[in-house]
Amino acid sequence: MNNLSTDTSSYSGICTDLCKGKCCDPWWGIISYIVKKDNGLLHLQSFREELIKGIREREQRIIDRYITTENPPRHLFKSPERYNVSIENIKVIGNSLHINLRAMFAFRCQFLSEDKMCTIHPAITGGNDLRPEHCAYLGSLDARPDERGYCRIIHTAAASSGDISKIKAAIEMEQGVSERFYNEGCKSAEMAVDAVLEKLKEYVRENAPQLLSIETQKNPGRNDPCYCGSGRKFKKCHGM
Ligand code: SF4
Ligand code: SF4
Repeated sequence: MNNLSTDTSSYSGICTDLCKGKCCDPWWGIISYIVKKDNGLLHLQSFREELIKGIREREQRIIDRYITTENPPRHLFKSPERYNVSIENIKVIGNSLHINLRAMFAFRCQFLSEDKMCTIHPAITGGNDLRPEHCAYLGSLDARPDERGYCRIIHTAAASSGDISKIKAAIEMEQGVSERFYNEGCKSAEMAVDAVLEKLKEYVRENAPQLLSIETQKNPGRNDPCYCGSGRKFKKCHGM
């Protein structure tokens, strides 16, 4: 196994022999942002479309940003395999919901080989580093948590002086977290947004029921869709 180094132009033996490229299998793009929903749960359909648009824009931003250093560049990613969108926090201010979302996109890099090697890594290309900036930092010992390039496995290896059992435990943990996010994720942005809206409705029912009165004041007809966005008729939902 190679010695750990801050020089990320050479492959670490931990990456190739033990970990086998977990950070790229899949590669997770994570973006946190805040959205605002006025008037409680009214007009959920247009809010749904706004959320889907926001996710698509962020997905495209990642695809556009992650390109090789060649001229012309090549893209690393196509559409994500999974969308894992979750609510991190909600603040109720007046009739508005300020929702902190975390959107996670599981991408499959076209340069990851079947045996989980980066085929544009300088160790493979003979020194020519075609990786985008973020990839070029991966596994850097200089990076701290939450900085680009930080890898818990590499840092565990450094801190434990190469203790294999600790490195394997760190790899298992990373793999377990990644698999969980992947399995809990959705195959489309639409499905991910629908799951978020269900959580939002649940939150309002349990924590901000005063917002429901905004809708009841609108006095929907008994056969109209229920204001809570359940998809059921008012008479069979909150109008019962
Ligand atoms: S940088 Fe970290 S996660 Fe990526 S292959 Fe190396 S040890 Fe694994
Ligand atoms: S270019 Fe290499 S390091 Fe970057 S995501 Fe693809 S396989 Fe991973």
